[in-house]
Amino acid sequence: MFLRNDHGLEFAGSASARSFGMAAPRAPTLAETLQRRFPSFDVAPDLGAQIGSREWWCGAATCTALLAAAWMLSPGIGRPIRAAVPAALDGRDWDEARAQRFAPRALGATSGMHMAATSGVRPLADTPERPILELTATLGSGGGLAGALKRSGVGADDAARAVALVDGRIAAGELDPGTRLDITLGRRATKSQPRPLEKLAFRARFDLALELARGDAGLALKPIPIAVDHTPLRIQGRVGGSLYRAARAAGAPAKAVETYIKSLSTRVPMGRVGGNDRFDLIIERARAETGEVKLGKLLYAGLDQGKRAVRLLRWDDGGKTQWYDPKGMGERRGGMTMPVSGRLTSGFGWRVHPLLRFRRLHKGLDIAAPSGTPIRAAADGVVARAGRNGGYGNFVKLNHVSGIATGYGHMSRIAVRAGQRVRQGSVIGYVGSTGMSTGPHLHYELWKNGAAVNPRSVTLASVQQLGGDDLRRFKTTYAQLMAVPAGAAKAD
Ligand SMILES: [Zn+2]
Repeated sequence: MFLRNDHGLEFAGSASARSFGMAAPRAPTLAETLQRRFPSFDVAPDLGAQIGSREWWCGAATCTALLAAAWMLSPGIGRPIRAAVPAALDGRDWDEARAQRFAPRALGATSGMHMAATSGVRPLADTPERPILELTATLGSGGGLAGALKRSGVGADDAARAVALVDGRIAAGELDPGTRLDITLGRRATKSQPRPLEKLAFRARFDLALELARGDAGLALKPIPIAVDHTPLRIQGRVGGSLYRAARAAGAPAKAVETYIKSLSTRVPMGRVGGNDRFDLIIERARAETGEVKLGKLLYAGLDQGKRAVRLLRWDDGGKTQWYDPKGMGERRGGMTMPVSGRLTSGFGWRVHPLLRFRRLHKGLDIAAPSGTPIRAAADGVVARAGRNGGYGNFVKLNHVSGIATGYGHMSRIAVRAGQRVRQGSVIGYVGSTGMSTGPHLHYELWKNGAAVNPRSVTLASVQQLGGDDLRRFKTTYAQLMAVPAGAAKAD
């Protein structure tokens, strides 16, 4: 803090610069003027001093008068001050205001006032025609090209000529419904005749555009071949949360992804596909030089699971589609599966029976497994018998196709009834140690036309194996596909 005096700035300030001796003459204020005219008159004296004097009474009266004036002008406490409200519009005024305001049409706004024609307006006797008409038409599913042209206003002669020209180039059935026709109709002499067809252009096929134009010798056809690239589309990526969604997000069409999952599921249980596995799809693709892209069928389905990889190539043979692995091995169909997974303790063949203590033919496989392990049907079939069967204990026999039958012994519990139809893999009972048995195991027997055979010798699996020329062609195709670089966006 400092005081002005300390610095000798007692006269410093904006209003006066007396210290510089340059004071400008200043106009006296109203109060100073009054003071000078009436030295004894003061409108606002100190009411705390000289009480009872003339100046004091003057000051008190002024103060009272001001308070009274303020009180009279005040509207009172708690009463609102009313503002002026314009009167509501009605009748014509309202219509006009509504026509000129901006408001949503849903709330009743109109798009302006409508003006009536004045006497200065003279209607046209005739509207002039456009010199040419450019229009597009879409080929319908019926009627063909001629129908679409006639609907667009092309004369019968021109339409017939155009159809004849197009038919000479492509078959009538090749035109897809929905094809867009660009039509240009020319000038006509009178309004009573159809406009002449000046130009007709459309995409006849994915690789061919046709253009009809009127020349000196009438309509002429000009085919415009379109180059098409058939490099397939390869899409790779991480499976993540959902194989379907990841493949779709990477740009594979829904149908191809469905085929992919279906073909893959013949080799890998879908539950065993992990988030870090990588999918690999190759899809048929045609790219026209004009920019259109057509995606077709799935050609290759791959899944890399790190240790294990599935690679499947589509192979069409005689109208039948099969998926083959790179070695030309097809899908295993209808093969027998092992009824339980366990340790094989006794194979098929002659052996000394562990309880009877003499050599006899063991007519099946013994598979040790904990008591209660589900036993699954080795193939589709019908339950021939289910119940106790001497040394076999609780026993189930299934009849399958082509003279095959299977038997399952020593079950702790049977889960099917005789006559019941079972699917491959469905549970028919549980491992136990009933009958002549030394511990929980499944005795699994297989008969072919009534004779017991080694279950491991029968696969019943119809695995298609390509050979000869087919295999050579298959391997070439496979190598070509594998050379396709991954295109499109990767789903990482
Ligand atoms: Zn046995």
